Amino acid sequence: MGKMGEKGLSLARRLYSSRILGLALGLVCVSVAMYPLKPAPWVWGLMLFNGLLWPHLAYQWARRAKVPYHAEHRNLLIDAFTGGFWVAAMQFNPLPSATTISMMAMNNVAIGGLRFLLAGAVAQILGIGVGWLVFAPIFIPETSQVQLYACLPLMCFYPLALGWICYRQAYTLGRQKRELLALSRTDSLTGLLNHGAWKDQLEIEFQRCQRQPQSGAIALIDIDHFKSINDTYGHVAGDSVLRQLSKILKLNLRATDVAGRYGGDEFCVILPDLPLSSAAAVMETLRARFATLGCEQSPAFKVSLSIGLAAFDSRHADATLWLNDADQALYEAKSSGRNQVVCCGGGWVHRELVDSV
Ligand code: GH3
Ligand code: MG
Repeated sequence: MGKMGEKGLSLARRLYSSRILGLALGLVCVSVAMYPLKPAPWVWGLMLFNGLLWPHLAYQWARRAKVPYHAEHRNLLIDAFTGGFWVAAMQFNPLPSATTISMMAMNNVAIGGLRFLLAGAVAQILGIGVGWLVFAPIFIPETSQVQLYACLPLMCFYPLALGWICYRQAYTLGRQKRELLALSRTDSLTGLLNHGAWKDQLEIEFQRCQRQPQSGAIALIDIDHFKSINDTYGHVAGDSVLRQLSKILKLNLRATDVAGRYGGDEFCVILPDLPLSSAAAVMETLRARFATLGCEQSPAFKVSLSIGLAAFDSRHADATLWLNDADQALYEAKSSGRNQVVCCGGGWVHRELVDSV
């Protein structure tokens, strides 16, 4: 079933219970208003049908329809039409008439906005017209005490039910919005932040470092010869290597570090409040862990990382220049032999003598 079908079915299900309640309470209100007018048996029959059977019929009708969404809109217009019809039948008795019309208006505006409110109003006027022809009403300007009480259940409970339904919907929408937002910031393969989300975090960290001078570093991590891993072992194995690297990142970084997938086989990390030498040590551990991963799987399967590190520098005009430093360091790591960590601090690039750390 298509999107429209699912949307229609969930609308039909939602309306099913509210229609059962609304029309049962409406029956109380209308029948007490009709009683003194001594209606014909067929009118009583129609009233009972509308109040008690119609909600079930409407639901089954919409459920079996090709496009339940359209069928449910037709049902709502029928509701509005019959509402208008009963208003004329009640000789426009003020309180039950106003209650019927306002409850239906509330229903229609909640479901379809202004357009549906207007469509419902037209259907109501049509219903009043037909009721007028059938009953030739005279206006009854007064509502009796008992008729007033008969309207109270509808006035009290129906808005409560509709409000609850609207609240549930808003709640579900809010949850879905949060889930979508999280999805839009996540890289689907690795579960790390994606490029855009990581860049946002970089901007935040850059501004934080500018405000309160403190050390911080960023790292760009690239898998060496990843293309040949793909070519030799296939893309599925390549994907698994990317996931393993993201797992190593998650396991070896602090909770405050921010790891992301920059794109392809390149990853990126923000290491706040860490001097460059400590950041280099962390990256060196990562590099070593990742290298052993290859050996564990098969001795012939060799993987390694090149890592470019850059410390925050107050001379950076913006975050992009900070990132440029890391990129330059990564380039240096690649071009001088790969499988190593290279740092860029104070504007110059140097290979970190990590063995001595
Ligand atoms: P270098 O040591 O210079 O980094 O060499 P490299 O082969 O790693 O670099 P290159 O940029 O030439 O190749 C990156 C490869 O990563 C190319 C692309 O097919 C592969 N790749 C990018 N994204 C994915 C992915 O999501 N899954 C897999 N399996 N491969 C990917
Ligand atoms: Mg690579």
